[in-house]
Amino acid sequence: MSVLIVVAHPDDEVLGCGATASLLAARGATVRACILSAKAAARRGRPELDELHADMRRAQALLGLGEPILGDFPNIKLNTVAHLDLVQFIEAAMLETGADVLITHHPSDLNDDHVQTSRACQAAARLFQRRSDVAPLKALHFMEVLSSTEWAFGAGGDQFRAETFCELGENMLQKKLDALTCYRGVLRDSPHPCSEQVVRALAALRGSQAGVQYAEAFQTPFRLFDFDALS
Ligand SMILES: [Zn+2]
Repeated sequence: MSVLIVVAHPDDEVLGCGATASLLAARGATVRACILSAKAAARRGRPELDELHADMRRAQALLGLGEPILGDFPNIKLNTVAHLDLVQFIEAAMLETGADVLITHHPSDLNDDHVQTSRACQAAARLFQRRSDVAPLKALHFMEVLSSTEWAFGAGGDQFRAETFCELGENMLQKKLDALTCYRGVLRDSPHPCSEQVVRALAALRGSQAGVQYAEAFQTPFRLFDFDALS
């Protein structure tokens, strides 16, 4: 299995699905992130670029992810980039990785960069319908990113619905928190949504929905039924 996590900014991949990504990698999947605004140049309080990229690589290594694919699109201004350019960048990442599972932002996220990323990723996901040499996609999942997805309030469409759950043990949840810590300045004090307490609380809430202690949840607009998964 090859999983491609398509996100707008560095650290989104950890907040949205860091534990699931690490679990999949530990079970033998190739998991890589495609980060469209990898420089995050307009981010307030951003460290120097080499520090940000060092943080990013430490986080990905800790989670067991492969080399990230980095875009140079402008953050907080992804809506000024031609949709086609984003789609083609994601398609190239899909071809490079042979991705058969895509994870991306929710299309009604509050953060407009996340919305643009999701829309472009959904268009790119249909690559197999345009090219006979590309294997059909197995699944497309939307993730939730604390401090933006929960603040959408339905203004841009439907709010996030938890539909697919990945059970996490304490060790995987802690690994997600450790990966977030790799990104300097991302984890804040409670009650900020990007605090250890709230990351743990969301994992506990999603876990309770699925009857387990902790989970990361996804909305799943597309999935090819996997009979092997039933055995
Ligand atoms: Zn983001």
